[in-house]
Amino acid sequence: MSNLNNIAFIITDNQNNQHVFYAKNEHRAGHAAMLKLKLDERQITIKRGFMFDAYEGKPIPPKLALSNGFNLECIYCEKPISQANTYRIDENDIYCSVNCQVDMAEIIGRFNL
Ligand SMILES: [Zn+2]
Repeated sequence: MSNLNNIAFIITDNQNNQHVFYAKNEHRAGHAAMLKLKLDERQITIKRGFMFDAYEGKPIPPKLALSNGFNLECIYCEKPISQANTYRIDENDIYCSVNCQVDMAEIIGRFNL
Protein backbone atom coordinates (compact mmCIF):
# COMPACT_ATOMS: atom_id res chain seq x y z
CA MET A 1 0.00 0.00 0.00
CA SER A 2 2.78 2.43 -0.84
CA ASN A 3 0.44 4.75 -2.70
CA LEU A 4 -1.47 5.73 0.45
CA ASN A 5 0.24 9.11 0.69
CA ASN A 6 -1.74 10.66 -2.07
CA ILE A 7 -3.84 13.72 -1.44
CA ALA A 8 -7.55 14.17 -2.08
CA PHE A 9 -9.10 16.08 -4.96
CA ILE A 10 -12.75 16.82 -5.49
CA ILE A 11 -13.80 16.37 -9.10
CA THR A 12 -17.11 17.87 -10.15
CA ASP A 13 -18.53 16.26 -13.30
CA ASN A 14 -20.82 17.61 -16.00
CA GLN A 15 -23.90 16.45 -14.04
CA ASN A 16 -22.72 18.47 -11.04
CA ASN A 17 -21.92 15.32 -9.09
CA GLN A 18 -18.80 15.36 -6.98
CA HIS A 19 -16.25 12.57 -6.71
CA VAL A 20 -13.17 12.19 -4.57
CA PHE A 21 -9.96 11.04 -6.24
CA TYR A 22 -6.63 10.43 -4.56
CA ALA A 23 -3.45 11.25 -6.43
CA LYS A 24 -0.01 12.80 -6.05
CA ASN A 25 -1.08 15.98 -7.79
CA GLU A 26 -3.94 17.70 -9.54
CA HIS A 27 -2.82 16.64 -13.00
CA ARG A 28 -2.90 12.96 -12.09
CA ALA A 29 -6.21 13.31 -10.28
CA GLY A 30 -7.73 14.93 -13.35
CA HIS A 31 -6.36 12.24 -15.62
CA ALA A 32 -7.71 9.44 -13.42
CA ALA A 33 -11.09 11.16 -13.19
CA MET A 34 -11.39 11.63 -16.95
CA LEU A 35 -10.64 7.95 -17.53
CA LYS A 36 -12.98 6.70 -14.87
CA LEU A 37 -15.86 9.07 -15.62
CA LYS A 38 -15.28 8.96 -19.40
CA LEU A 39 -15.23 12.76 -19.62
CA ASP A 40 -12.79 15.26 -21.07
CA GLU A 41 -11.09 18.16 -19.34
CA ARG A 42 -13.82 20.64 -20.31
CA GLN A 43 -16.41 18.55 -18.48
CA ILE A 44 -14.77 18.42 -15.08
CA THR A 45 -13.52 20.83 -12.48
CA ILE A 46 -10.91 19.94 -9.90
CA LYS A 47 -10.21 21.35 -6.48
CA ARG A 48 -8.27 20.18 -3.46
CA GLY A 49 -10.24 18.22 -0.90
CA PHE A 50 -8.21 18.65 2.27
CA MET A 51 -11.07 17.35 4.41
CA PHE A 52 -10.89 13.96 2.66
CA ASP A 53 -7.12 13.41 2.83
CA ALA A 54 -7.39 10.94 5.70
CA TYR A 55 -9.78 8.62 3.86
CA GLU A 56 -7.72 7.17 1.05
CA GLY A 57 -8.57 3.49 0.79
CA LYS A 58 -11.39 3.89 3.31
CA PRO A 59 -15.02 4.82 3.01
CA ILE A 60 -15.70 8.53 3.34
CA PRO A 61 -18.17 9.12 6.17
CA PRO A 62 -21.51 10.09 4.59
CA LYS A 63 -21.95 13.01 7.00
CA LEU A 64 -18.64 14.50 5.92
CA ALA A 65 -19.58 14.13 2.26
CA LEU A 66 -23.02 15.68 2.82
CA SER A 67 -21.60 18.61 4.75
CA ASN A 68 -19.28 19.30 1.81
CA GLY A 69 -22.13 19.48 -0.67
CA PHE A 70 -21.92 16.02 -2.17
CA ASN A 71 -25.01 14.48 -3.74
CA LEU A 72 -25.63 11.17 -2.01
CA GLU A 73 -28.25 8.54 -2.70
CA CYS A 74 -29.98 6.06 -0.43
CA ILE A 75 -28.03 2.87 -0.99
CA TYR A 76 -31.28 0.89 -0.99
CA CYS A 77 -33.76 2.88 -3.14
CA GLU A 78 -31.33 5.42 -4.70
CA LYS A 79 -33.45 8.39 -3.64
CA PRO A 80 -31.33 11.56 -3.42
CA ILE A 81 -30.33 12.55 0.09
CA SER A 82 -29.44 16.08 1.14
CA GLN A 83 -28.48 17.60 4.45
CA ALA A 84 -32.01 18.96 4.74
CA ASN A 85 -33.66 15.54 4.56
CA THR A 86 -33.95 13.18 7.42
CA TYR A 87 -31.71 10.21 6.83
CA ARG A 88 -30.19 7.28 8.62
CA ILE A 89 -26.56 6.24 8.72
CA ASP A 90 -25.47 2.71 9.54
CA GLU A 91 -21.69 2.58 9.69
CA ASN A 92 -20.84 4.04 6.28
CA ASP A 93 -24.13 3.26 4.56
CA ILE A 94 -26.68 6.00 4.16
CA TYR A 95 -30.45 5.49 3.84
CA CYS A 96 -33.31 7.87 3.15
CA SER A 97 -35.52 6.29 5.80
CA VAL A 98 -35.75 3.67 8.51
CA ASN A 99 -37.78 1.53 6.10
CA CYS A 100 -34.94 1.37 3.61
CA GLN A 101 -32.46 0.63 6.38
CA VAL A 102 -34.63 -2.25 7.64
CA ASP A 103 -35.25 -3.63 4.15
CA MET A 104 -31.54 -3.59 3.37
CA ALA A 105 -30.71 -5.19 6.71
CA GLU A 106 -33.10 -8.03 5.92
CA ILE A 107 -31.47 -8.54 2.55
CA ILE A 108 -27.95 -8.61 3.86
CA GLY A 109 -28.93 -10.48 7.02
CA ARG A 110 -27.74 -8.10 9.66
CA PHE A 111 -29.66 -5.72 11.82
CA ASN A 112 -28.03 -3.57 14.45
CA LEU A 113 -30.00 -0.42 15.14
ZN1 LIG B 1 -34.27 4.77 0.47
